[in-house]
Amino acid sequence: MRPDALLYPAPEGLYCPEGGFYVDPVRPVEQALVTHGHSDHARPGHVNVLATRQTLDIMRLRYGDGFCASEQAAAFGEELLVNGVKVSFHPAGHVLGSAQIAIEKNGTRIVVSGDYKRRPDPTCAAYVPVACDVFITEATFGLPVFHHPDPMDETAKLLASLRQFPERTHLVGAYALGKAQRVIRLLRDAGYAEPIYIHGAMEKLCDYYIEQGIDLGELLPATIESRDKSAFRGAVVIGPSSAFADRWARRFNEPLPAFASGWMMVRQRAKQHGVELPLVISDHCDWPELTETIRELHPAEVWVTHGREEALVRWCHLQGIKAKPLHLVGYEDEGD
Ligand SMILES: [Zn+2]
Repeated sequence: MRPDALLYPAPEGLYCPEGGFYVDPVRPVEQALVTHGHSDHARPGHVNVLATRQTLDIMRLRYGDGFCASEQAAAFGEELLVNGVKVSFHPAGHVLGSAQIAIEKNGTRIVVSGDYKRRPDPTCAAYVPVACDVFITEATFGLPVFHHPDPMDETAKLLASLRQFPERTHLVGAYALGKAQRVIRLLRDAGYAEPIYIHGAMEKLCDYYIEQGIDLGELLPATIESRDKSAFRGAVVIGPSSAFADRWARRFNEPLPAFASGWMMVRQRAKQHGVELPLVISDHCDWPELTETIRELHPAEVWVTHGREEALVRWCHLQGIKAKPLHLVGYEDEGD
């Protein structure tokens, strides 16, 4: 079967006409297959949603019980049939519950990787390479300049700053799903045993990670009303970066704004956001991870979704691999 007849971009998202389903649709559809819980991939309002149990749970936490009319959970590696099309979910190593989706019909297999990374991350199942004819990859950091440093080295920078400025409250901006829990876990792995304060927007998801067996150590609410302001002196407070611009942040003791994101590689971005301590911690592949993954899988074709498509497409052509950009819209990278 021709791959571009099995799956192609439609305004709603990647569409499989044989199976009658969309992958990560950006508009409400009848049947959605969802790779992971970030809001640009997992949207409310579909009739049926097929995803991993954890992704379904995360969607419910974020959108409430009515996020879809009916749901179906897929276990990793389990083969399911959707209107005669074989589909299976495989770990993507991006955030808790994140999956690549393999779609197969008449001997042609396409893998939609969703967002993925190859670096070790104890807060989610590690990426598994899945052999395929067509590999669909994101390219958020798809330029040769993007090399992410070791996340433990970035964590060490935060700990060094805490020692250097013991009076200042270190406000670490992080996305509520995935990045916040990963930063907390990194701090714990680096030996940081103090309580970590979290913004209200992170509570439900942190609780869910803990419930799923991810040890995050002692977490306390970062509500200034509940305790003496001095409690936050020299403490780590984790919250959405959007909260750092409002009154909430100014109540802390000499706040030191930090931000954990792959984009912190770009000094200009850190400056723009008033970040004093940029932490380059990404839940996406950098350029070496993207190219090594394609080399390892060696698919007949690569389709590039969102991000910097052109450079990766060109790189594939130089390797003798057929490649094209898909120009999907609506994926804004909630969790970079
Ligand atoms: Zn994502």
